[in-house]
Amino acid sequence: MTVTLEVANLSKSFGGVHAVVDASVSFQPGKVNAIIGPNGSGKTTFFNCVTGMIRADAGTVTLAGHDVTRASPDRIARLGLGRSFQVCRIFPRMTVLENLLVAVKNPSLTGALGSAKNPTAIAAARVWLRRVGIDHLEHAEARNLSYGQQKLLELAGVLMGDPEIIMLDEPAGGVNPALIGRISALIRELNAEGRTFVVVEHNMELVMSLSDHVVVFDRGRPIAEGDPAHVQADPRVLEAYLGV
Ligand code: ADP
Repeated sequence: MTVTLEVANLSKSFGGVHAVVDASVSFQPGKVNAIIGPNGSGKTTFFNCVTGMIRADAGTVTLAGHDVTRASPDRIARLGLGRSFQVCRIFPRMTVLENLLVAVKNPSLTGALGSAKNPTAIAAARVWLRRVGIDHLEHAEARNLSYGQQKLLELAGVLMGDPEIIMLDEPAGGVNPALIGRISALIRELNAEGRTFVVVEHNMELVMSLSDHVVVFDRGRPIAEGDPAHVQADPRVLEAYLGV
């Protein structure tokens, strides 16, 4: 379970704004990788280019040896990359269980979207709900969950696709400390089972305690990478954050 993800010379501009500039990153397979950087440093744009949500102007993204630079998000998902969104993507008026049954992207599991009555898909959904700790909310409408519980639901939806690489955009953003603890423990467990993580996150304490490998963005490009202690001590990183 060591699918590789490599990004070479990626660039993306919006009009005159150079959001990502010639960014090259090799994520470490089997590890928890984090992307950090000041606001506006290009993390989300980079993330969206890698996951196929927006098209890069230049550069290549290689997933499991396949060039996926211009691939659709669906093809990228089928190659083993699952992602969450900064703002949760769930169906508020569907139940928790129904959300998972429509979220699933694995046709071999569900026979496309006709999964609502598929016992295999329902069993898989229940396994993931238990894993993320919201199985007691199976019949609740998603809109009635707390924001943190909605994030856990979204994560369960990502896991329905059984991805080997999981990219999370701000998993702890807006989540209360108790649930941050649970999300963090889950990431560790899933990583111990062999899944690679790439996490964009503002919560520095979480990043430093959770990640094996940190990539720091500043003004659209990676300026430092390494283990958390190494990165924290890097003067370029302090400069990027303090703006000195
Ligand atoms: P981060 O995630 O690190 O906060 P972003 O990738 O969101 O950074 O933004 C990088 C830069 O690109 C910012 O200057 C931002 O204003 C700009 N930007 C991002 N998305 C768009 C867009 N859709 N249209 C125009 N500018 C954008």
